[in-house]
Amino acid sequence: MRSQPKQPNTDPKHVPSLGQAARTAVREGVTLLQLNVEGLTKAKINILEHLVSTHKVTTILLQYKPHIAALRSKISARNNLLRCLVGSSWGASTFRTAALAIVHSAAEYAAPVWCRSVHAKKLDTTLNETLRIITGCLRSTPVAFMPVLAGIAPPKHRRAQATHKIACQAMDSINHPLHATLGGQPHGGRQRLVSRRPFSRHAAALVAAGFNINTAWCDDWKEVSRPLPPQFNVEPSTTTPTGADLPRKAWTTLNRLRTGVGRFGKCMHRWGLKTSSSCICGAESQTAEHILFDCRVLHPPMGQDDLKSPDEEGKRWLQLVAEYA
Ligand SMILES: [Zn+2]
Repeated sequence: MRSQPKQPNTDPKHVPSLGQAARTAVREGVTLLQLNVEGLTKAKINILEHLVSTHKVTTILLQYKPHIAALRSKISARNNLLRCLVGSSWGASTFRTAALAIVHSAAEYAAPVWCRSVHAKKLDTTLNETLRIITGCLRSTPVAFMPVLAGIAPPKHRRAQATHKIACQAMDSINHPLHATLGGQPHGGRQRLVSRRPFSRHAAALVAAGFNINTAWCDDWKEVSRPLPPQFNVEPSTTTPTGADLPRKAWTTLNRLRTGVGRFGKCMHRWGLKTSSSCICGAESQTAEHILFDCRVLHPPMGQDDLKSPDEEGKRWLQLVAEYA
């Protein structure tokens, strides 16, 4: 028995999928497409490029909300994988490499296409969770500290870097599909798609400003509320941070001491998890600063050098402090 042909959806609020829209465009020669882009893949990008380049469609309105929602779910699942490995023998350096390979690679796939969407920021909270797993920082830790400790630039700068890279490639090669779009015309060249934040304008602005991820990150870092904890001795850099070769527990303790947010007496008392904020040395309030600068029992054997590059003695001290951090 032959199946009934599928009836088209006549709901005026219905937004077709990319496949449906492409078939309609080819069949009926429509000129305006409004698309909910979900699960952006190379194949879907190719369909879009094909529709535009063959003039099947002259205007495409892209909405990335479903794509970013789907991406958040994917990143959360990968974060859970990383979280399962927290108790393993993996050190910080391995965690960082794994996060870049399985989380950030997925989170930044085709980012130059969707990074200007207002929904892109929603992904950042999930990526902050990735940084929290890498650094071992607690939820109360200021968000700006975690990229610095992990040695991974904030997501918005990484997405801008991807856009800058593709813009430079397009400008350098006459055979690049985007070369004409970024061809040095005023206001970033011809705008092919209707958008309030078009790729061409964003890319041209990044190239004109000579975008550099480290400079952009350092500029942001200057805006972080001051004063920083006196023991926070790390600067923004995309290289592996000092201490990343430590065993997981020592690395976690090191970061909690650096940020001042950990299972110290004062924090635990404030969170209602301890009845007193006192230290084992008898001091009234146990904080990271107290442990590092004043504590008679838990002070670092080599002073502040143990926070910069812990040696064997420094590692033993971090293991001791791990009980309180
Ligand atoms: Zn003490």
